[in-house]
Amino acid sequence: MKYDFAAIEKKWQDIWEEKKPYAAITGDPRPKFYGLIEFPYPSAAGLHVGHPRPFTAIDIVTRKKRMDGYNVIFPIGYDAFGLPTENYAIKNHIHPAIVTKENIANFTRQLKMLGYGFDWDRCVNTTDPNYYKWTQWIFLQMYKHGLAYKTTMPINWCTSCKVGLANEEVVDGVCERCGGEVVRKEKSQWMLRITKYADRLIDDLDDLDYIERVKVQQKNWIGRSTGVEVTFKVSNGDEITVYTTRADTLYGVTYMVLSPEHPILEKWKDQIANWDEVQAYQAEAARKSDFERGELNKEKTGVCLQGIRVLNPVNNASVPVFISDYVLMGYGTGAVMGVPGHDQRDWEFCMKFGLPIIEVVKGGDMTKEAFDAKDNGIMVNSDWMNGMTVREAIPAMKKYCVEHGFGKEKVNYKLRDWVFSRQRYWGEPIPLVHCEKCGWVPLDESELPLVLPNVESYEPTDDGESPLAKMTDWVNTTCPKCGGPAQRETDTMPNWAGSCWYYLRYMDPNNDEAPFSKEADEYWGPVDWYNGGMEHTTLHLLYSRFWHKFLYDIGVVPTKEPYQKRTSHGMILGSDGQKMSKSRGNVVNPDEIVDEFGADTMRMYEMFIGDFEKAAPWSEQGVKGCRRFLERIWKMQENVSDETGYSKALEVSMHRTIKKVSQDYETLKFNTAIAAMMALMNEFTAAGTITKDEWKTFLILLNPVAPHITEELWQIAGEPGFLFQQSWPEYDEAKTVEDRISIAVQIMGKTRGNVEIAKEADQDEALAAVRADARLNALIDGKNIIKVVYVPGRIINIIAK
Ligand SMILES: [Zn+2]
Ligand SMILES: [Zn+2]
Repeated sequence: MKYDFAAIEKKWQDIWEEKKPYAAITGDPRPKFYGLIEFPYPSAAGLHVGHPRPFTAIDIVTRKKRMDGYNVIFPIGYDAFGLPTENYAIKNHIHPAIVTKENIANFTRQLKMLGYGFDWDRCVNTTDPNYYKWTQWIFLQMYKHGLAYKTTMPINWCTSCKVGLANEEVVDGVCERCGGEVVRKEKSQWMLRITKYADRLIDDLDDLDYIERVKVQQKNWIGRSTGVEVTFKVSNGDEITVYTTRADTLYGVTYMVLSPEHPILEKWKDQIANWDEVQAYQAEAARKSDFERGELNKEKTGVCLQGIRVLNPVNNASVPVFISDYVLMGYGTGAVMGVPGHDQRDWEFCMKFGLPIIEVVKGGDMTKEAFDAKDNGIMVNSDWMNGMTVREAIPAMKKYCVEHGFGKEKVNYKLRDWVFSRQRYWGEPIPLVHCEKCGWVPLDESELPLVLPNVESYEPTDDGESPLAKMTDWVNTTCPKCGGPAQRETDTMPNWAGSCWYYLRYMDPNNDEAPFSKEADEYWGPVDWYNGGMEHTTLHLLYSRFWHKFLYDIGVVPTKEPYQKRTSHGMILGSDGQKMSKSRGNVVNPDEIVDEFGADTMRMYEMFIGDFEKAAPWSEQGVKGCRRFLERIWKMQENVSDETGYSKALEVSMHRTIKKVSQDYETLKFNTAIAAMMALMNEFTAAGTITKDEWKTFLILLNPVAPHITEELWQIAGEPGFLFQQSWPEYDEAKTVEDRISIAVQIMGKTRGNVEIAKEADQDEALAAVRADARLNALIDGKNIIKVVYVPGRIINIIAK
């Protein structure tokens, strides 16, 4: 009988479509398990081979959980607002709504083709008014609680997308989406006060089962530090405040730098002799992006303010004041003190402008890494602090500043409020109007959803206004408060809005009265396991934690965190080891792989490709190897006898493989789980025939990886019910070890006795067995073990002094 994967896969997908075996039942008495993957953006290119890696992984985890007796929810949906669709629509003159609909249909076909156990009845689409009604509703709650506000501020402006970007969306100084140039632009924007949650977003990480690098990235991004704000007196009687985490270096200050945008400059313009030079520099700085300005190894530039000096409060030393573009107004106080003796950038600045350098720490290292590693320099040239270690000096100087009235303790954050509006068409309309008399007025909640109007042209405008601004019929409305004339907000929400709460909507996707019911949320929440890309750590993952905490604060959700566990996968690269891209011609199309080899092969290959957390190059040979393995399994059905139970010859291997596969699935080590099943298959082949129970156990173990072929073989074997409804096989720990053997123990070359160990024990295990024997241990206890010679199966010789 031939392995006709196409017919088998079609057959089972049709049965799943009809019988809905993966439907999650809210309120079911079994324990619940919520497995989640990041819902895809339905692009015109269709599914990428990178998508199935995390999708298959959590599909495997949830399939095993079902067999473990859990009531599983494993939902899917589409995050469909945003620029790629809008840009595609503009280029091809098709409305974004139509593009989205077509793309979703294609993605759905592809996801079903891969046989995922999604509960399709819970599918959500962020561009559906029934969905974004509640995105708008949550935004209004944030507005009502003072977390949403509109302000004019310099933003990152992508010159190619013609859209404002959040700091998180600027990667290496360019637009993370299109790679376009990013410049600063003053713009009135809606903002979300995520900074209000900075402490909780850091502190609550402690109780979560997130992989360490996710926690570290979020903490670094929020960037909490405890330091001092120190006030310097200016020669003209004004004051300037700087923030520093290294107050201990105050005696080493030889100059001060202000941001070119510092508002005090305007006040001083009559006192600054070289004001023309200052203005020219300001104009130059405004043309650069924050990234460009912050780059460490660029040439240092600046202008010294002639006629202005400041006094160092610790020693009254008069030092010059500069403006330089590396100081940004949005960070700290817009002013920094220059300590060239212990900061590389400050040192370069001083070399360029011929400023003095004072060493205040001896033997220390100012890099954050060295400091965190408890590198302790000794204070010099610092008056009363001389001789103190840096660690002692920091709190001592902090206290001194506070007591002398020129400093106050301050916690600072790198995190900025979230720019929450985009001047584009394809996004959720912001449900507020602006009234001349009343200012910003929210729509009544009964008016939601505020539906995105159908526009003729969705091209971005060169003046940076949203395409909606041109739709005067839609824009002009009446104020819900006073009934007077008012204008609708024409900016839309950023593409990150809809994903902030989609995992909650899955729990109760068709609710018209509320975003979801309390019962559904109490039953399903929080998400037990969420896998997603590392690139979303400081974007979606942080944003959605923020929204969830807000919903918790207003009593909408009962848990303070959305996701209990977070893991992340590596990228799948082209066969040349490079990132897949059209221009490199190394893109693999999932449709072609499934066509030629089948979905089970594709699933297995992506799990076998390597360490789940690491990037891995695509290999056609690897795909073929997985296909051959499935062929061998298909043939094995001819060698199954009518006998039950496990045979003596295979018993240990059966128990071991069950243990290995069970543990590996739970820890995302799919490659080694599959390798263990391949090894078992080799033993099956060597044994000639296998029992019914050995075959059944093997099919269950493989089912999460290759659900179609295993279900078919289960049916052919005449087993009752569906395979996915079976219980996960158990193993007996005692039966996972081979026969035990006795080896001789020599200490200092003299035979002292024997210990019993597993036949395959390694040196550490053998040594542990010696230690466990009180009499033998007494001979080496308290001594230094210098050398161990271990001959497996025969002898262990220990040299100790
Ligand atoms: Zn861009
Ligand atoms: Zn009004």
